[in-house]
Amino acid sequence: MEDNSNVREILEKLVSFPTVSRDTNLPLVEWVESYLSSHGISSERVTSPCGMKAHLYAQVGPETDAGVILSGHTDVVPVDGQAWTTDPWTLTEREGKLFGRGACDMKGFDALALLAMARAAKLPLKRPLQLALSFDEEVGCAAVVDLVEAMKGELPRAREVIVGEPTMMRVVTGHKGGLAYHVHVRGFEVHSSLLPYGVSAIMQAAKLIDWANQRNAENAAKTPSELAVPFDPPFTTLHVGKIEGGTAHNITAKDCRYFMEFRFVPGESPEDWARAFEAKAAELSAEMQKIHPDTGIDLTPGFALPALAPETDGAAETLARRLTGDNGRHVVSYGTEGSQFQVRGYSTVICGPGDIAQAHQPDEFLSLAQLAAGEAFIDRLLDSMC
Ligand SMILES: [Zn+2]
Repeated sequence: MEDNSNVREILEKLVSFPTVSRDTNLPLVEWVESYLSSHGISSERVTSPCGMKAHLYAQVGPETDAGVILSGHTDVVPVDGQAWTTDPWTLTEREGKLFGRGACDMKGFDALALLAMARAAKLPLKRPLQLALSFDEEVGCAAVVDLVEAMKGELPRAREVIVGEPTMMRVVTGHKGGLAYHVHVRGFEVHSSLLPYGVSAIMQAAKLIDWANQRNAENAAKTPSELAVPFDPPFTTLHVGKIEGGTAHNITAKDCRYFMEFRFVPGESPEDWARAFEAKAAELSAEMQKIHPDTGIDLTPGFALPALAPETDGAAETLARRLTGDNGRHVVSYGTEGSQFQVRGYSTVICGPGDIAQAHQPDEFLSLAQLAAGEAFIDRLLDSMC
């Protein structure tokens, strides 16, 4: 196995910062800034509105277009309530694996990207290498939009984006998009014997949920589009996983609350699904208000993430296939920040070390073999850019 002590030291450092999404990532960002500047690389921050977190971007190489972006997120999911056998914030080696929160998702790739920047600074690159490190990926992939816009505005336009989420170094070209709402149905309480004079929040909620059932049946019956075929299932699904409401068996329910989630295939947009859902909710609200004006359905948006669509002759896919030798067709079931780059005009693939099965788990780990495979990938990338 290759000696990857250097990248391992970087990973050890990154894991030592407990950058759970709800907390600050600034100590990590400060460390990254000093690491980069020790290699003569300057970097920029894009600070969150609350000032508690920051994205970071940087570039090495010539001030020209057609560079490569290595993209990673700095935040990790919590360890609360998980049974870890090692300290999650201390990178620990056991049986060829490096354990630690974020080792796999996705500080392993972050460490490789930092190493790539440091090595690139000493090479005669023909086109630039850019680094994008974000916060709040694990809470909806929305914050990264500010980072993408800043890089678009401030740096020469890159051609390929490699998002290093764990794929076992396979080339992943698509994922479904996501959309979610907190739904609050407000009814009007009467004794259930007087049903027509009240509005049951639960029974109205059932209508909106049945609308979702109908869409599921419709979607399942359609012939999948070419972009949807690789997915299992190859169609958009709507889901309610949790619901609460009601006071007593003989009172029309005053409140009903639930969370509605959409997972849609590439080729469909969060905006279209949002419009359809909001229109149905407005129609039901109007019916409810005919019975009592204080009733209705309130929708609070949760997350909205575009799908990542496989590109035809995509530059990023071509590059990643050449570097990995992987010519298979892969899509994944999790969302990434990649689609936020793609919808803003960047050719994008997902390719990174580690297995998504380890992400978010207690005793999360990255194997030394995957870290070495990632480092070989980085070295081939740098070679190809000289
Ligand atoms: Zn991730």
